[in-house]
Amino acid sequence: MDSVDSLVEMYHRHKRKITPQRLCIFKILQSNSSHPSAEDIYNQAKIQIGNISLKTVYQILNELAELNQLEIIDLGTGTIRYDPNVKISHQHLVCKKCSKVNDVDLKVNSKMIDLSDDALNNFKIDKIDIVLRGLCVDCFV
Ligand SMILES: [Zn+2]
Ligand SMILES: [Zn+2]
Repeated sequence: MDSVDSLVEMYHRHKRKITPQRLCIFKILQSNSSHPSAEDIYNQAKIQIGNISLKTVYQILNELAELNQLEIIDLGTGTIRYDPNVKISHQHLVCKKCSKVNDVDLKVNSKMIDLSDDALNNFKIDKIDIVLRGLCVDCFV
């Protein structure tokens, strides 16, 4: 995700208004590595500015995703999560007990996986997602 200043500039270029709600969500997501759900973001925003609805939060998250500033991910934790770390290719570690999601530096490409020729010839892969499931450090001790 770009810096708050760059986002503000980009919104101006796209003729979109910088509302207090948008600004608040930009700041919450800035360098946020917790892969929050929309509810998590909503709860934080409500503490900070009060005047915001969950619907507005979803709208802002969707527009940030459209602008390639955010990735919407479903890692099977029961909630859709939002990932502002779109610049560096990474995979995810998911704790099956507390649903914490952490980034892991893991490079994968289609040459590294043993795909049948049939699958390779009939499908064009453009992204491989690997989810590593287990227990996080807080849960296995
Ligand atoms: Zn855990
Ligand atoms: Zn991530």
